[in-house]
Amino acid sequence: MKQSMSFIPTLREVPADAEIKSHQLLLRAGFIRQNASGVYSYLPLGQRVLQKIETIIREEMNRAGAIELLMPALQQAELWQESGRWYSYGPELMRLKDRHDRDFALGATHEEVITSLVRDEVKTYKRLPLTLYQIQTKFRDEKRPRFGLLRGREFIMKDAYSFHTSQESLDEVYNKMYEAYSNVFRRCGLNFRAVIADSGAMGGKDTHEFMVLSDVGEDTIAYSDTSDYAANIEMAPVITTYEKSDEPLRELEKVHTPEQKSIEEVSSFLNVSREKCIKSLLFKVDEKYVLVLVRGDHEVNDVKVKNLFEASVVELASPEETKQIMQCSIGSLGPIGVSEKVEVVADKAVQAIVNGVCGANEEGYHYIGVNPERDFTVSQYADLRFIQEGDPSPDGQGTIRFARGIEVGHVFKLGTRYSEAMNATYLDENGRTQTMIMGCYGIGVSRTMAAIAEQFSDENGLVWPVAVAPFHLHLISVNPKNDEQRHLADELYEKLQNNGYEVLYDDRQERPGVKFADSDLIGIPVRITVGKRAGEGIVEIKVRQTGETMEVHVSELNETIQ
Ligand code: ATP
Ligand code: MG
Ligand code: MG
Ligand code: MG
Repeated sequence: MKQSMSFIPTLREVPADAEIKSHQLLLRAGFIRQNASGVYSYLPLGQRVLQKIETIIREEMNRAGAIELLMPALQQAELWQESGRWYSYGPELMRLKDRHDRDFALGATHEEVITSLVRDEVKTYKRLPLTLYQIQTKFRDEKRPRFGLLRGREFIMKDAYSFHTSQESLDEVYNKMYEAYSNVFRRCGLNFRAVIADSGAMGGKDTHEFMVLSDVGEDTIAYSDTSDYAANIEMAPVITTYEKSDEPLRELEKVHTPEQKSIEEVSSFLNVSREKCIKSLLFKVDEKYVLVLVRGDHEVNDVKVKNLFEASVVELASPEETKQIMQCSIGSLGPIGVSEKVEVVADKAVQAIVNGVCGANEEGYHYIGVNPERDFTVSQYADLRFIQEGDPSPDGQGTIRFARGIEVGHVFKLGTRYSEAMNATYLDENGRTQTMIMGCYGIGVSRTMAAIAEQFSDENGLVWPVAVAPFHLHLISVNPKNDEQRHLADELYEKLQNNGYEVLYDDRQERPGVKFADSDLIGIPVRITVGKRAGEGIVEIKVRQTGETMEVHVSELNETIQ
């Protein structure tokens, strides 16, 4: 590509609102421009890097047996209502109405669309397993869009979804995807780590995030200094050091509370599996039913509530609203503070527990009369905390250290969360109706580009790894007005392209200083400068990463740059 005819608006100054390296450099080097908050144009160079990353992703997805398709970004609300997420996703979901006043969402993710598609088309076990993927623009009205492409409101994602007849089949594809993700990020040149992740509001079990190690990362990784153990801090086990108070615990009262619903009722009411409801508490606070889902062990008499993580509130006032489940995540329990995600409602749930409704949900019954001061004290609550640096690693090997990470990918065993809610079933060998088991797998494509920029730069600009560089070679004619220089550079431009290289050719009438500064800023791996010695057929080669330079005769150029 000839630079004189391209569109690479570089900037000398650091843009005022760009806080981190990748954001500053991608703007300055002319890869992106902001349109609205969290919304960007990818300029020609940026688009080329995205395409390189997408090619790597496609190759690895195809190799793992996934099939590409493309689904709509504009999605009817009905699908999201079916899964329940119309009500639970919150303000991050961009919603709009059409001219007939019908509700739509802009796809933040595609579980609903793909589940309805596969539900309608796949009826028999013979067509499973099936893994489909797309690369597409996603929309999320992030509370704090920032750091350029790292947290956009419109961004590019690769999302894959798998459908299975058995857990074993899901495990197999999950492992393949895990491998594929490792390959993708390795090929992008990234320093990354796969970590155990939090299933959050998604409702799955096994899940890993792929984290690019970087100080600007918004996630904290807890890892062992001697073993392979690594987890998102959100997921690292809570250290529970409950101690019984001096006064012995009395038998807690088990009563049938008047507002109690049966497991079946709760299950159908909330559209979540029965299994999930058994591990739940449902009680009434301020005329609202509060459902608290508890993950992990939770025994009341031994006071071993380990990890409380989700609370839902259901309005019983109007039948319309009863279906509106507001799901919140509670990072930790009680007065020691509630994670940022938690809304007022969850606070109430916590209060309700503190105020004495507690216990594993035995069908139709709750333990009541739990007295926090007697059965476990506030200071004991305070001992319930997330893992910290210096703690022993949960796998028993080594000591926990912390690092910051950028989440570039996420693989997830969904189970039947969506297939159950949306009735995605198939007929098994015996003609019986079964619910499909699902997995989902995402990569932030545009975020990956920023993560690479974050890891690969120096004081002069970007330093792209070859595999994702916008071009292989940056050819510069120092003075295009000089016939010898221009002719040699033109000739090399043709030849190098014929030899399969992608060449950016700086043929502009600019001062050499400007060209070299732009070249360093853009960060193409190898620069070939045609200057004073053009007459002898000698050019200068410079390796962007090391700064190493050498003069070579054009006849040796091919061997040298290989
Ligand atoms: P985060 O925790 O950073 O908000 P997420 O867990 O909400 O991300 P997922 O739902 O797991 O994101 O989506 C899959 C991938 O999409 C993420 O691993 C990430 O790489 C990318 N992604 C998510 N949100 C954004 C965003 N706002 N901008 C750019 N990429 C994003
Ligand atoms: Mg998010
Ligand atoms: Mg996340
Ligand atoms: Mg995620």
